[in-house]
Amino acid sequence: MTQNYNRVYNFSAGPAVLPEEVLKQAADEMMNYNNSGMSVMEMSHRSKTYDDIIKTAEKDLRELMNIPDNYKVLFLQGGAHLQFSMVPINLLKNGVANYIVTGQWAKKAYVEAQKYGKINKVATSEDKTFSYIPDCSDLPIDENADYVYICENNTIYGTKFHTLPNTKGKILVSDMSSCFLSEPVDVTKYGLIFAGVQKNVGPAGVQIVIIREDLLREDLPSWCPTMLNYKIHADNGSLYNTPPAYGIYICGLVFKWLKKLGGLEKMKEINEKKAKILYDFLDSSKLFKGTVEKSSRSLMNVPFITGDEETDKEFIKEAAQNGLLQLKGHRTVGGMRASIYNAMPIEGVQKLVQFMKDFEAKKG
Ligand SMILES: *Cc1c(COP(=O)(O)O)cnc(C)c1O
Repeated sequence: MTQNYNRVYNFSAGPAVLPEEVLKQAADEMMNYNNSGMSVMEMSHRSKTYDDIIKTAEKDLRELMNIPDNYKVLFLQGGAHLQFSMVPINLLKNGVANYIVTGQWAKKAYVEAQKYGKINKVATSEDKTFSYIPDCSDLPIDENADYVYICENNTIYGTKFHTLPNTKGKILVSDMSSCFLSEPVDVTKYGLIFAGVQKNVGPAGVQIVIIREDLLREDLPSWCPTMLNYKIHADNGSLYNTPPAYGIYICGLVFKWLKKLGGLEKMKEINEKKAKILYDFLDSSKLFKGTVEKSSRSLMNVPFITGDEETDKEFIKEAAQNGLLQLKGHRTVGGMRASIYNAMPIEGVQKLVQFMKDFEAKKG
């Protein structure tokens, strides 16, 4: 499989590995998509052919996530970072929101939102370098909070909310960028879900937003740029202006790949199996250790250290020489991080663990 193309195992946190089947199909369709005589990249976003592509992508995503009819699915641009602004601009009515800060992305969102209202941090795990998810069962939620914000999977620190916070009836907003489509979710528990697709679903440049219809508003402040108004995009089926057309097409292929695989229940099963191989090894190793509290562990991003910077460096270098790439931890954390998204084959994780065992034996 990997031989023909000389591909490596790519543990990058994002942009990240995509299913080979999808890449091959995209390559096959590059010169002439479905007898249109052109690439999707060259195609008018107003054409019938493209309309089918975006509508099918939406339909497949709705099926995969079991998205109720009273939620809109939007394909936008601007990265997760733009959502850090769009969320408060669109959702603040009372001008108050509550943020749970469990990592750098949540923190950035929290800081950005302060431009638009009174933003209160109701929980954080910064005291222990974001290595756990705080207890969110009884937080001091503001009575007039417009929403409660979480980053559901913390890409950099490798933690994940396994229980959603008790929002005391307030709307829950979730940045799902790095766990999107990795397991089933109950969409009805959220007012808004967003995800940058470059972690688990497609090429950078596409942002998926799932928003409950009643949160779309006519009465946004007049200074709000048209492009930052969710309702404009919802009313125009994500075709208000030229969308990231080719990226959406690739997302659509990934949705088909997930459906063929058996959907999100099956994907979760596979992800659990993959993550277990790595975590079990980390728990038994004398050289390597995981940096996250066990009950908060992510299935997608697994940070680990040896405790010695020089050894970490040596490990990362030798791993790369063995076709195991992008294992360096985030610059703010150091050590290593293996991102094992949906498209990482189990063989990749097995090979990584074998390599870690060999490295440990050599050191010991
Ligand atoms: C990568 C990431 C972001 C930032 O995404 P951009 O597309 O670079 O803006 C935000 N949140 C999470 C959870 C991420 O993993």
